[in-house]
Amino acid sequence: MVCENDKCTGCFACYNICPKNAIEMKEDEHGYIYPHIIESKCINCGLCKKICPVLNKVELKRPIKCLAIRTLEQNILSKSSSGGIATIISKKVLENSGIVYGAAFLNNCEVSHIRVDNIEDLIKIQGSKYVHSYIKDTYKNVKNDLTTAKKVLFVGTPCQVAGLKRYLMKDYENLYTIDIICHGVPSQKFLKDEILRINKNLNIDRVNFRDKKYNPFHFSVVKNGNDIFFESWSKSPYFYTFMKSFTYRDNCYICRYASIERCSDMTIGDFWGISKESKFYNTRSKGISVALPITEKGIEMLELISDCTEFEERDINEAVAGNDQLRDSCKKSIKEHEFKNSYLKTNSFYKSYKKVFKKNYYKQIVKSNKFVLKILDIKKELKNGKKK
Ligand SMILES: Cc1cc2nc3c(=O)[nH]c(=O)nc-3n(C[C@H](O)[C@H](O)[C@H](O)COP(=O)(O)OP(=O)(O)OC[C@H]3O[C@@H](n4cnc5c(N)ncnc54)[C@H](O)[C@@H]3O)c2cc1C
Ligand code: SF4
Ligand code: SF4
Ligand code: SF4
Repeated sequence: MVCENDKCTGCFACYNICPKNAIEMKEDEHGYIYPHIIESKCINCGLCKKICPVLNKVELKRPIKCLAIRTLEQNILSKSSSGGIATIISKKVLENSGIVYGAAFLNNCEVSHIRVDNIEDLIKIQGSKYVHSYIKDTYKNVKNDLTTAKKVLFVGTPCQVAGLKRYLMKDYENLYTIDIICHGVPSQKFLKDEILRINKNLNIDRVNFRDKKYNPFHFSVVKNGNDIFFESWSKSPYFYTFMKSFTYRDNCYICRYASIERCSDMTIGDFWGISKESKFYNTRSKGISVALPITEKGIEMLELISDCTEFEERDINEAVAGNDQLRDSCKKSIKEHEFKNSYLKTNSFYKSYKKVFKKNYYKQIVKSNKFVLKILDIKKELKNGKKK
């Protein structure tokens, strides 16, 4: 064990630093990934503990300012989750011969961070994947790229940015980091269970959580370029349990990064709770990002995209008021415990969902069944008739 499991973020920093490849990342029964030390390979050098962001201090700073911001490039905006800021900055970095790292769907529904060095591949990392993305060897690859003069942009959750910074152990002039406001990550096993139920195998292109052609948020499964399945977040067992914070890693419920003090060069997220006075208020359904530059490099990134975005400076308190995860981490509920226990017994995401969230399950069945709705309407009319 490097740090205690209930605090471990699964950031892969220890895995990347180990000089003897003595650390394996293994999934537990729920699919949450943790480091395991192979004693026969370990030389007790202590590096893993020295860099672990849980065991060591991570520098956190308040943002310099707060912007509501959206890309003017409509083809990017339509495919991005909120205002397309991660993608438009990534595009600029690539146009200047830089390298970008972000989360992508790979084969068999695995989500991992990948290296992107051309604009055609940018689409792979565009869009929010509401699941834990595996870093694998990414920190080593970032370090390799940093030894060239190229600009390197890393986009990830705050705990992944913290993992990268602790792994590197020094500042690099050509490294730029963006973290996303984050309320927690479910395990990949949960997502794969759902895909197997829907599609019988894991052979899909990706899952879209924020495809803007659907409103409200939908869980849509894309295979060979087509949506083969879609349902609104409240009907989707996976998306419902994600939105209600039932499926995250243990450490996400005590996340030290859920605060206005941040660890990257710039934080981005959805501008939830944007004021009616904002020029973006009436068009917020198109997607509007909040951008919180923390360092001068954050300001530099905003300058880089100033010609292809529309933006407005807003009060930081407005962003904090609208976004819970800029104040505190998600809290565990009794249902979270019940759900995870049931999963251990059934080893089935769907069965556990049906058992623990009976009310939502039956409510959605009733809502989607026209016959049942008709009967309920007739019953209501009869009841009203009697009253009269
Ligand atoms: C697990 C998760 C929880 C989130 N919770 C909140 C929240 O509580 N409040 C809020 O305001 N916003 C939250 N977001 C962020 C929001 O969904 C958008 O990702 C963010 O606003 C960026 O939008 P964009 O249009 O600029 O990004 P896009 O242009 O769509 O690009 C998305 C970027 O996010 C990165 N990314 C996608 N999935 C992951 C992942 N699983 N792990 C690491 N990086 C990833 C990609 O690499 C890419 O750079 C969350 C995102 C994730 C992945
Ligand atoms: S102590 Fe050193 S060799 Fe052992 S697991 Fe940690 S980093 Fe690897
Ligand atoms: S370095 Fe990251 S993955 Fe390793 S123990 Fe610490 S938090 Fe967990
Ligand atoms: S909630 Fe915190 S610990 Fe969990 S994935 Fe997000 S940043 Fe990491």
